[in-house]
Amino acid sequence: MFRAAPRNGGRAATNQKVFATMQIQLPDGSIKDYPAGSSALDVARSIGERLANATIAAEINGQIVDANRPLTDLTDADPIPLKLLTTKDPAAIGVLRHSCAHVMARAVMRVFPGVGLAFGPTTGNGYYYDFDLQTPISEEDFPRIEAEMEEIIKTAEPFERFSLSRDEAVKFVQGMNQELKTEHIETGLADHSSLSFYRQGEFVDLCRGPHIPDAGRIKAFKLLSVAGAYWKGDANNRHLQRLYGTAFFDKKDLQAHLDLVEEARRRDHRVLGKQHGLFTISNDVGQGMCLWLPKGATVRALLEDFIKQELLRRGYEPVYSPHVGRVELYEISGHFPYYRDSQFAPIFGHPAGQLVDNWKQMLVANELTEKFEGDFLATALDLGCAFNDYPRSANNDEKLTYLSKWEKQQERYLLKPMNCPHHVQMYKAIPRSYRDLPVRLAEFGTVYRHEQSGELNGMLRVRGLTQDDAHLFCTPEQVEQEFKDTLDLVKYVLSSVGLEDYRVQLSKRDPNSDKYVGSPELWDNAESTLRRVLQESGLNFTECEGEAAFYGPKADFMVRDAIGREWQLGTVQLDYNLPERFKLEYVGADNATHRPVMIHRAPFGSMERFVGMLIEHFAAAFPLWLAPEQVRILGLNDEMLPYCDEVKKQFQQAGFRVTVDRQSANVKKKIRDAQLDLVPYMLVIGPKDRDQGGVSVRDRIEGDLGFLTVADAITKLTAERDQRIIRQAIKRSFSGFGDGGESASQEGY
Ligand SMILES: [Zn+2]
Ligand SMILES: [Zn+2]
Repeated sequence: MFRAAPRNGGRAATNQKVFATMQIQLPDGSIKDYPAGSSALDVARSIGERLANATIAAEINGQIVDANRPLTDLTDADPIPLKLLTTKDPAAIGVLRHSCAHVMARAVMRVFPGVGLAFGPTTGNGYYYDFDLQTPISEEDFPRIEAEMEEIIKTAEPFERFSLSRDEAVKFVQGMNQELKTEHIETGLADHSSLSFYRQGEFVDLCRGPHIPDAGRIKAFKLLSVAGAYWKGDANNRHLQRLYGTAFFDKKDLQAHLDLVEEARRRDHRVLGKQHGLFTISNDVGQGMCLWLPKGATVRALLEDFIKQELLRRGYEPVYSPHVGRVELYEISGHFPYYRDSQFAPIFGHPAGQLVDNWKQMLVANELTEKFEGDFLATALDLGCAFNDYPRSANNDEKLTYLSKWEKQQERYLLKPMNCPHHVQMYKAIPRSYRDLPVRLAEFGTVYRHEQSGELNGMLRVRGLTQDDAHLFCTPEQVEQEFKDTLDLVKYVLSSVGLEDYRVQLSKRDPNSDKYVGSPELWDNAESTLRRVLQESGLNFTECEGEAAFYGPKADFMVRDAIGREWQLGTVQLDYNLPERFKLEYVGADNATHRPVMIHRAPFGSMERFVGMLIEHFAAAFPLWLAPEQVRILGLNDEMLPYCDEVKKQFQQAGFRVTVDRQSANVKKKIRDAQLDLVPYMLVIGPKDRDQGGVSVRDRIEGDLGFLTVADAITKLTAERDQRIIRQAIKRSFSGFGDGGESASQEGY
């Protein structure tokens, strides 16, 4: 988005204004006069030099602006409500980091002449800049780039803003040989009559700002990594190199952040997943297709069993549905063709299906030439479709109708992108009375999304995923109770894996938009119901306007992991749309038919993402109840093996996943191996243990716990397992670390 040029741009430069004064109102309410044309930095300086040195940017009516621009250029307000943003304001760090992206780009251009510039926004924890250049940048280049950045920061040149008209701007970026910027002005920014640039020494970048007053404000920075990216995120576009970095106001903060990054790297689920045999991905099967190895599958199965048991207790009914559905089903639900780009291509029952699909798409795009049409008809004939009565001389609409009619008679399937339409059909399978409601249908349903290959990330972003899904069909009066119970369920399942630190985001509609289905009264009612339930639940929650789905408000669980990263996991969504689209009904107490409300909910989200997140949360050291191998028995020597097997049998009978280490190695080595394999309990057995009918218990975390009889050891471990006690997670509090995912913010164009 681009901020329009200030309405009074340039006014301060007129003679009357130069000698006039303007009034500034500070956050404490005090009002002071300043010469017109003063900047926020001038205001800071008038209060004190230290404040001026700490001033990074300013805020006027919630908008962050450059500290060195004349305030009268930024607002018409009188007095001007000014808040100085110093190094202590959380909002200032984004301005610093984005400015550091400019400094980095400038340094890269010095090291690699002829670099093309793309975008350079901030992320949750830093910034990146996308570059177009032939030479691949590698981590070995980082010291050179960083040294150049140091030089730039040392000279502390200011960031100077100027505006150009569209035509001037295009000429200007062409003059700099910036092809991508030129394209962006001509396409992405086509509706902007004037564009702003920021100059810093020899470096000029198209940017809406804001920036720090001068580069000297950057006290600590670091380049972090380099990765591939595509121009505007589209794999059909030019391939770019994305250079990531971060910046802070203080070296100590940077070090704390780097420690955290290192900790996150140590916990990377892709590395740990391989090391501990949890999952794999094979290009022969397909990118983004998670293959659950026995140990990972054990963790998943335990979580699924746990949820299934809990759902039975809460009145849910299990269902199963196939992995595909007819295209027509998704046309009714609205998933097709609306979400077509994010889905796998349809599976056509007739050999001419794909052909007709392309044919129709060309008609819709108004791109069908006579030659193509002739080719289509000839090919269709080859594939067994004569299409004798195809209306060749008619208009596109009639042709589309003809082809659609043919398509409807064929079988066309989609890999299912959502489970909802299937569950809707189950609801519809029998007549429903108000006495039957709520109906709660639960399924671990696998769905498929054709995510772009560049977006794929281990288990966290995949193309086939299994949701711990359920759909609730209830009367409007039941929504409150069902929502309450669902929140309670999510709380319960999160606590079972030790995730206790979370907040709920209540996403509401944008009252000024008309994209929402259902009347404003319905929404007001639903939103206030959800709010009331959240208030009563005592959950920490925030409200977000405009974040709701078009079909209803929702509550998302934002969960912090052991190292303070926030993940969006479980979700509960109200839906007024699908019941309408599928004409769902129930007979009310008044004998009339009514429309039920649907609730979609998934406490974990998807099994892939949830287990991937858990691997990182626990650093693969799962708590006893989830550990793929719970107990390992280590004999002092081979003579102990028969007794080891006896103990193993007893633990197996108590339901434990237990193995015997059969290596001909000393106990020290066996213990080390078990520690490395993150086995929660080791049972060490020597002749003394055997003769007394027991074992020496060794805890992975606490070390040697001493001798216990086999029966006592089983009792102790059973209690820990069945109460799902969590002892593993290291609680560390880090601040300023966003989601595990990458969320580019608004800076840059
Ligand atoms: Zn910028
Ligand atoms: Zn759903």
